[in-house]
Amino acid sequence: MIEAIKDKMRSLPAMDLLLSQDWVEEWISQLGRDTVKLLFSDLLSDIRRKILEDEELEPSLGFINEQAKKIFTDEVKRKLRPVVNATGVVIHTNLGRSCLAAEAIRAVCDIAASYSSLEYDLLTGTRGSRNSLVEGLLCRLIGVEAALVVNNNAAAIVLCLSALANGAEVIVSRGELVEIGGSFRIPDIMKFSGAKLIEVGTTNRTHLKDYSEAITKETAMILKVHPSNFRIEGFTAQVPRCELAELAAQNGIIFMEDMGSGLLIEADELGLEGEDSVKKCISDGADIVTFSGDKMLGGPQIGVVAGKREIIDKLRNVQIMRAFRVDKMTLAAFETTIRIYLRGELGKIPVVSMLKQEHDEIEKRAHRFASILREKFNGAAEFSVIPVEDAVGGGAYPARPLKGWGVSVTSHAWGSAGNLQALLRQSDIPIIAGAKDDCLIFHIRTLLDGDEEKIIEALKTLF
Ligand SMILES: *Cc1c(COP(=O)(O)O)cnc(C)c1O
Repeated sequence: MIEAIKDKMRSLPAMDLLLSQDWVEEWISQLGRDTVKLLFSDLLSDIRRKILEDEELEPSLGFINEQAKKIFTDEVKRKLRPVVNATGVVIHTNLGRSCLAAEAIRAVCDIAASYSSLEYDLLTGTRGSRNSLVEGLLCRLIGVEAALVVNNNAAAIVLCLSALANGAEVIVSRGELVEIGGSFRIPDIMKFSGAKLIEVGTTNRTHLKDYSEAITKETAMILKVHPSNFRIEGFTAQVPRCELAELAAQNGIIFMEDMGSGLLIEADELGLEGEDSVKKCISDGADIVTFSGDKMLGGPQIGVVAGKREIIDKLRNVQIMRAFRVDKMTLAAFETTIRIYLRGELGKIPVVSMLKQEHDEIEKRAHRFASILREKFNGAAEFSVIPVEDAVGGGAYPARPLKGWGVSVTSHAWGSAGNLQALLRQSDIPIIAGAKDDCLIFHIRTLLDGDEEKIIEALKTLF
């Protein structure tokens, strides 16, 4: 028996033979010779292990080639790929948060393909600053004296705390000590930045005197944090922003607010309630605010610190800025997005237009899509238009789902909704769909132009 196994091992093809096959050439050009060799070698190890476990196994060259082709086909697919977001979650963190406006995409391509005026003053022919590419525009848009951009909002907060409150005390309400997605927790960020967290109030109620009693000679800042992904309801109390601003001013300390999502327009323009815009926050008296570029703003991943010039100037040249500085493609997208806001052409920003979509427009689109699906896949599955709950996402607006419409799919052939979801994720263009009550659901709100056709293509391969 041992001999038989040894014979089988010996009869496995040699690497040179595998690599010299005609069909392999094409894969070598697509993946590189070293990768192809490594994948063959992993496959052979795998087969050897299986031979040891199962003496019946007798892998032919044809079998090995077939397995290898599957592996190569998988490997050649780009890891970072476009997907169809049929979940109804507009700012879907795992699916890349926001899609850029077409004009912003063109700007990215332009700047990526060419040398640019990234840090070059075209008037004087001397060194310029990348921040100045967007600072003036941002100031005009949100009505602040100064602004600074960094890699993301987390970096903006670390920058502010470490430059303005290192070794000093920062007062935060216990109701705002939040964790936002995975590793971002306000107490940890505070520690990392060298600031000492002074917690005041209780989880549900914090009063002005809680803050005022906590102020000492060591206090550098009062920090207000947007409780992005949760809501405390019932017997609650928060101190109005303008009272915090006044208290901070009286004591010569900074009042900073981490706004999270950073609404550049008023919430009611988006049909949302109870969210303050960046403008409102500034006019209420925040000295500086921080927010993300790729949440409700609908631009690229970036973090903004905006507010009083005197404070922002202290941040410009700190060492850590160098580690947080923004890439040129991001700046291209961000500048263009801000210009779209300044022109008031909000409909061109995908996040904004998805949030603003009229309920009956979504319903009409759902009916159109359902009838195409019924026509194409008659008998194979049932398609119905149903009301669904969509979400803003990105940690924003957790308590209030958005009313949307979806197309539900039921099919005995595919088994459970979970099974169908998994199959659709494996399509050439992966489709990420929702599910409820063992029905697969395509949420209409988050579909981009042309996504319906992509879903149809994916479904075709399943029938
Ligand atoms: C999302 C969020 C952050 C982190 O922002 P990133 O841009 O993801 O770094 C920080 N604070 C609040 C309140 C947030 O909602």
